[in-house]
This record gives sequence, structure tokens and C-alpha cells, in this order.
Amino acid sequence: MIDDVQKSETECPKCGYYLVWQQCQVIDCNEGYIKDDDPFWDSEIQICEDCQGTGYLEWCQNCGYGCN
Ligand SMILES: [Zn+2]
Ligand SMILES: [Zn+2]
Repeated sequence: MIDDVQKSETECPKCGYYLVWQQCQVIDCNEGYIKDDDPFWDSEIQICEDCQGTGYLEWCQNCGYGCN
């Protein structure tokens, strides 16, 4: 598996270092939403808890901001 960490253009609000981001690793996550394909349910869409609906995770490698 490729560790696909990218440099973000956003600065860390805590230390000013650049943030890095990675696509959300939740398998069912599709750009921040979990789509339930169960035909008995009306395609219920839930916000992914890992990435909070953003589809990616962003954190600071310098001070740990954004890490769980
Ligand atoms: Zn997600
Ligand atoms: Zn930081």
C-alpha cells in the first residue's frame, strides 16, 4: 500500500508549519460520505466519522495538530 501523504497549502494554526493530508482510509468512505448500498434502505448516506465529511485527513507533522 502506498503511503500517499501530500503536502497541504494550509498552515498549522498552532505552529505555522505546513500541514500534510492523506485521503481518508475508510474503505466505504467516498469523499467524506459513507454510502450504504443496502437495497432495503433508501441509500442512506452518512458522514464519515474519520474524516468528518471532508474525504481526507489533515494534520501537522511538526506539533501533532489534527492527530487523533
Ligand atoms: Zn472518511
Ligand atoms: Zn503544528
